[in-house]
Amino acid sequence: MIFVLFMKSITILGATGTIGANTLDVIKQHQHDFAVIALTAHRRVERLEALCLEWSPRYAVMADYEAAEQLAQRLKKRQPSVQVLSGPEGLTKVASLPEVDLVMAGIVGSAGLLPTLAAAQAGKRVLLANKEALVMSGALFMEAVHQHGAELLPIDSEHNALFQCLPYQRLKEQTLEELGISRLLLTASGGPFRTYSISQLHDVTPNQACAHPNWQMGRKISVDSATMMNKGLEIIEACWLFGAQPAQVDVVLHPQSIIHSMVEYIDGSVLAQLGNPDMRTPIAYALAWPKRQTSGVPRLNLIDIARLDFDAVDFERFPCLQFAYDAMSAGGTTTTILNAANEIAVQAFLEEHLRFTQIHKVIETTLSLMSGRAATSVDIILEDDARARELASEIIEGVIVNGQ
Ligand code: NAD
Ligand code: MG
Repeated sequence: MIFVLFMKSITILGATGTIGANTLDVIKQHQHDFAVIALTAHRRVERLEALCLEWSPRYAVMADYEAAEQLAQRLKKRQPSVQVLSGPEGLTKVASLPEVDLVMAGIVGSAGLLPTLAAAQAGKRVLLANKEALVMSGALFMEAVHQHGAELLPIDSEHNALFQCLPYQRLKEQTLEELGISRLLLTASGGPFRTYSISQLHDVTPNQACAHPNWQMGRKISVDSATMMNKGLEIIEACWLFGAQPAQVDVVLHPQSIIHSMVEYIDGSVLAQLGNPDMRTPIAYALAWPKRQTSGVPRLNLIDIARLDFDAVDFERFPCLQFAYDAMSAGGTTTTILNAANEIAVQAFLEEHLRFTQIHKVIETTLSLMSGRAATSVDIILEDDARARELASEIIEGVIVNGQ
């Protein structure tokens, strides 16, 4: 009990996912420092039930209503102290509970927007893995963070690396230029198809796309890594997190994923963060920040690694990168549209309704049919998100009907 005063309380959104599992793994190593208040999932009842039995949170949320009922039934007998909530309102509630200090935003895709935004509006320390939320709502999200005194700590390994190499606190008052920073260099592994030709890309399967050489991740982000849209979303994420212009963010291929990103200063210094590719490092850092704590990640052995390679990215084979630069430059809801079209196209690819090489075409066509507008409210963002999804779905149906 003596520890309770010093414990930080946490809600984990997306507890059954890869980020959720890594977060719980780190917390397990520091059980006296963290109290798990709420765990959420989409519809994997058995998985969330197992986590509730292990962690005894105060709340468990299933986004799916039917799944929530099933979970409540099961827990009634086995762990009656857990209150089961459901739907987007349940997610939003546990993201903004007064007794919660930290919120891990680990939901994948646009479903994470409202709860992540709610956490920012409640002034929490938000550990942001759910990059899609920021890509969708950019300015509005950052405004909520500033207005409500929230702390936004990046979990994405690249942004966590930049966060570690930047005088982040000073970025609240000063621009990158004032801090003598000339460029943010995002590293990219290049994914499983880094060396594939366009004709080889034509026939790749979802399982091939999800077999990332360096990282174990959920299926959606794995496909994003294979198309390099993940790096595109990360360019946009970096612009919002660090107040950068698209031209200040560059991408360099680095197949070993040991350097997680770099900050270039005007005096020629380049600061990099290195580490084994394991999400427990950025998660442990964000959980303990501004302190450090162990993460369970093995020590980096540079002698074993022996070499680090770098290459330029190929915009022709991976056009999603350019879409991201263009969408960020266009501003407003253009990035919302980009994200929505990508989510629909990736889903269709995972369900084998679309070829890998058609993903970028669906996104490009959606962007050509719909223009963005000022993203001044959540309603506008959600409207454009919904419209872009409809359009992308119609485009995919056309592709299927015409057998292209
Ligand atoms: P995942 O697919 O393994 O897990 C996703 C989680 O979100 C699950 O808990 C699932 O239940 C929940 N979820 C899915 N749809 C939902 C819905 N409609 N409503 C509510 N909850 C829903 O994904 P992941 O790999 O853990 O990625 C999560 C987020 O973190 C993504 O935005 C991803 O881009 C980002 N991220 C992941 C990694 C990684 O290494 N896995 C690295 C950097 C960033
Ligand atoms: Mg990343």
